[in-house]
This record gives sequence, structure tokens and C-alpha cells, in this order.
Amino acid sequence: MNVAKHMAGPQGGHYRLKQPQKREKHNRIPARVLKSRARLLLSGAGCIAAVLIITALLAMPHQNAEPIEAAASPEAVPSTAAESISAKASVLSKTTSTPESAFQQLGDWRLVLVNSEVPLPDDFQMTPTLFDTITVNSKMYPGLTALINAAYNDEINLWVASGYRSVEEQESVLDRAVQRRMADGMTYENAYEDARITIQAPGYSEHHTGLAVDFNDVEDDFRETKAYTWLQEHAAEYGFVERYPKGKESITGIDYEPWHYRYVGKEHAQRMNELNMCLEEYVAFLKGD
Ligand SMILES: [Zn+2]
Repeated sequence: MNVAKHMAGPQGGHYRLKQPQKREKHNRIPARVLKSRARLLLSGAGCIAAVLIITALLAMPHQNAEPIEAAASPEAVPSTAAESISAKASVLSKTTSTPESAFQQLGDWRLVLVNSEVPLPDDFQMTPTLFDTITVNSKMYPGLTALINAAYNDEINLWVASGYRSVEEQESVLDRAVQRRMADGMTYENAYEDARITIQAPGYSEHHTGLAVDFNDVEDDFRETKAYTWLQEHAAEYGFVERYPKGKESITGIDYEPWHYRYVGKEHAQRMNELNMCLEEYVAFLKGD
């Protein structure tokens, strides 16, 4: 049974990964492993055969990194090489609805805004691809690969714990959290309310875009690591911004999450940092609000 489906109306809030972090630890990939695989893949310029072999060995529906410009069309069609994931992605447009008062999105997919008040747009399309074992938006793949490689070269221990998450997966996570609380004696209403403090409503998680990543252990003390310091300095060079920074909580609606980064492309990332704006502020700024 799916508890979330019994709730009326869209719910706000962001799924913050505090509940599933233990379950997701098996996803951790040592940077060394990622690097070695990335190197093999990236050497594919003169080595297409090797790429094919590796792809087959890993049994992954991988598609080669493509120029960001080439993938910029919002009409990108889900890859046939990843049918199961595409099927999940295609459900997104069927299971979310946009309230009439919804924020009008800018035409730039890099700046798609999803938060507790703005659901994933009905017409948002994404082509999933695998970054090692983590499903991500294929448009983010080149930037994420470059970021992880650069961290590795600087001897920084950085890995991707989580990327794309479907609406159905979000429902399951919320459902399980509610059930756990009810098993501990809470009423359904209290259990749901408590779970929603840390878990985003289905349809309202930025992870639905495939453009968000959670790093390392998805824990608060990530802020004290060398990896976090490194990201503060270098993430924008690869198109990533800290999505829920300290001091912007009242604007993002989300507590400080040092582990959650969002791909917006290099130009936007550097401009956002210069302006000291979070995504909500930056999008409003570009719209002239
Ligand atoms: Zn996250």
C-alpha cells in the first residue's frame, strides 16, 4: 500500500536524504574506482572498441558524454538504451501536475527550479545515464565526470551517493518512513508530519531533475571535510553550486545541506557565486523580478 497516495493535494518540502542515507551507503564508489573507469571511458577518442567492451562488461546503459550544447534541447527523448530507466522518467510527466499559480520556468533546462512550492514541470524531459552505479541526467554527465576527476587529481575523497530519483521512489521512501513511525506508535497524521520534516513530497524533490547530486556520506559533518572545502573553491568551475547554503534557508525553504549540489552549467554557477545568490534568487534575478 502506498500511504503517500492517500494524501490529498500537493505537499511541500524537500526530501533531504536524512532517512535513506544508511541505505544509500552501498552506493559509495571510491574515487579511485570512479577515476579509473572514467579514464578508460574518456580515453575513448581513439578507443571506441574499448568503450564498447567496458560498457558491455559493466552492463550499463551508458551513453557517451555529449557536448552540453548538443543536449540543450528540452525535447530530448529518453534513450532507448536505458528503457527501464526511461520508463521511470517518462512517468514524471504523468504523475505531477502544475498548479495554476506555478512558477513560470525559464527556458533554460540548466535553471529548472524545483522546490517545496514548485513541482517538477510537467514538460521536463530527461535522458538518464549511469555515472558508475548512480543514475543521473545525461546533460550533467560531462560536468560531473570532470568534477570528480578534478577532485581525484587533487587527492580529494569525493564520491556521488545519490543522483536521479523518480517520483515513485520518493513515494516509497516517504511511505517507509511513515510506516516506521507508525510502528513506533505514532498516529498516521503525526507520522506523516514528522517524516515530512526531512523527506520531500513526491514531485517536489530536486533529485527528480537528475541534475542534483548528494556527495559522500550525506551527513552534516561533510562541511568539516576537505572535500567540502574543495567543492566551495572548485565546484563552479565544473558547473555546480551548493544548492542549500547556510544563510539562505529562508529563501530555499531547506536547512543547510552541505552535501547537496546542483548542476547549472559553468556560466550560471560562476555568476551565482559572484552574486552570492541561491537558485531561487538567481532565477528571480534573471526574470527581472
Ligand atoms: Zn539531495
